Amino acid sequence: MSALFERVAFLGLGHIGSSLCHAIRRGRIASHISGYAQSAKTRETAKRIGLVDSIHETASEAVSNADLVILCVPVGACGAVAAEMASSLKPGAILTDVGSVKAAIVRDVAPHLPKGVEFIPGHPIAGTEQSGPESGFAELFHNRWCILTPLPDSDPDAVSRLEKFWQACGSNVELMTPEHHDLVLAITSHLPHLIAYNTVATAADLEEVTNSEVIKYSAGGFRDFTRIAASDPTMWRDVFLNNREAVLEMLGRFSEDLSALQRAIRWGDGEALFNLFTRAREVRRSIIAAGQETAAPNFGRDQGQR
Ligand code: NAP
Repeated sequence: MSALFERVAFLGLGHIGSSLCHAIRRGRIASHISGYAQSAKTRETAKRIGLVDSIHETASEAVSNADLVILCVPVGACGAVAAEMASSLKPGAILTDVGSVKAAIVRDVAPHLPKGVEFIPGHPIAGTEQSGPESGFAELFHNRWCILTPLPDSDPDAVSRLEKFWQACGSNVELMTPEHHDLVLAITSHLPHLIAYNTVATAADLEEVTNSEVIKYSAGGFRDFTRIAASDPTMWRDVFLNNREAVLEMLGRFSEDLSALQRAIRWGDGEALFNLFTRAREVRRSIIAAGQETAAPNFGRDQGQR
């Protein structure tokens, strides 16, 4: 079978970029992988572990002649990287990204692009709390969703090629608008991360309970929050700065529901608590039934999927 793309270029070789490199190699999806990373350390690691076929010190060099270019840097860095390399993109190339927020990336990247380049934003709903070029693995995208958010004038053939790319990496693909993506992810990913960060911070600040007790008795639930709260601070800072409206909307709803729970506890309303907990348990069962989690009781799993 011939490769789906001749040359694929990666701008950013961290957790997601390196996982995609492994998936491309395993599936023989491209003939040549070129890569750019801002630091010499990441470039050296990429070379040492054979992530890419050619490694470059500038984004412009990495993208020249590429048929598919994938931005894999933090959301807040996409605009500057796009500005630097846009004029080196080959006419007809497909440019995509993996950022956790979509409308802000369209806002920051699209204005820099020359005519003839197909920009189709994307977001694989897969990841772990690890970062860096050595944390990637080919199976990360297996049976996970990848959301593409084509623009109104996106070429359907280019969208279909990109869909095939993600399917070859093991993902299921869904299309939606950037705004809808940001609303859905605000509740399924961004708010849970904010709650985890806050839960861990609150526990760490407690004076009546010592830090060693928090760690010693963490299996009571706390440690599952710490896995999420171990995620990369730069990535998550950028997510909240760039999906402000949707996160604030979901946070408002969450705070109202939390107040209702607080009230139920204060008034000893066991029925309200029981009903809510029962509904929540059903949601967990639906996620397992949809193949997005296993029922194995492996709290603090090995390769957590986000
Ligand atoms: P990562 O492991 O921390 O890697 C980030 C990469 O971006 C590194 O190669 C880093 O280069 C580079 N970079 C950082 N700041 C930069 C800047 N200002 N200019 C140019 N390059 C810069 O991050 P990741 O987890 O792969 O995340 C990458 C993207 O994927 C983010 O947009 C994130 O929202 C999205 N995403 C992440 C996950 C996840 O769970 N991790 C899941 C889905 C989507 P150096 O190494 O040279 O510093």
